[in-house]
Amino acid sequence: MKTLRTSGVLAVIALVGALAPATSAGASSAPVARGQVRAKEAHQSGRVKRSPNMTYHGGKIMPTAVDKAIFWGPSWANTTFVGDKVSGLDSWYAGHNGSNYAATVDEYTDTVNGGHRVGSSGLVHQGHVIDTSTAAGGNNASAILAEVQKQVTAGSIVPDPKGNGYYPVYSDVPRGHAGYCAWHSAGTVSLPSGGTVTVQFGFFFNLDGDAGCDPQDAQTGHSEGLAALANVTAHEIEEARSDPASPGAWYDSSHSENGDKCAWTFNVPSVRFSNGTTWKLQGEWSNAAYTAGTGYPNASGQKGCLDGH
Ligand SMILES: [Zn+2]
Repeated sequence: MKTLRTSGVLAVIALVGALAPATSAGASSAPVARGQVRAKEAHQSGRVKRSPNMTYHGGKIMPTAVDKAIFWGPSWANTTFVGDKVSGLDSWYAGHNGSNYAATVDEYTDTVNGGHRVGSSGLVHQGHVIDTSTAAGGNNASAILAEVQKQVTAGSIVPDPKGNGYYPVYSDVPRGHAGYCAWHSAGTVSLPSGGTVTVQFGFFFNLDGDAGCDPQDAQTGHSEGLAALANVTAHEIEEARSDPASPGAWYDSSHSENGDKCAWTFNVPSVRFSNGTTWKLQGEWSNAAYTAGTGYPNASGQKGCLDGH
């Protein structure tokens, strides 16, 4: 879902997921029980204590991911603005493949077309494309999907034919008063050759100097803007892999996805990726770790977060 750091406002919008600033992202709304059958042993309390674990909702997961980043907006032609962000995110996606961090999502499966399991190796990063036309903010997912479509039409992106393409759009628009740092969603694009295909995509504000989306990385040497994008990049891609599209795959009774449940909790100063790069990243919720009591605690003290460390 959306990621943001301080507001705790998790607007329910028609996006698969988004990441809001830190402290109480994803924890602000009361769970809505639908069709709940009370357990016999709970009749006296009047309230069933539910597991915080996520449950499966019938949709597909991403058994693999092919990704290509889109940097959108005129500022991406400005080398001072670009700084370490474009090269840094390229190395982020490359090193994410085969990382222990990516493997924190491997436990999730689906039952679609015979069933799949999320896999953390064979994730293909195809680099990036820069579009210096005026970018949109994040309020309209259709505008972001239209940007992905634009790159598909231009041949800059060739979507994965099995719907496992993930296309994060990094806008140069600052967050302003929006209550989130980033989000992920899914949609359908038309192919130049005819036909359509499902794509996963993400939206990211320009987070330079944005205290509400800052993981406060003092370890890795990355600029604040890159460190902030890296952290929310982790949140969104792991949600996309475990809960990519309607009708949805893995989320909890509050509709929180694996990234939401561990948002803005950091177990270690930095996480090492498979290419040796290091990043300050939030953890990702693991049902298995929570059940086994081996995770580190999220903002609610529930020990289900893993960062592969
Ligand atoms: Zn999220």
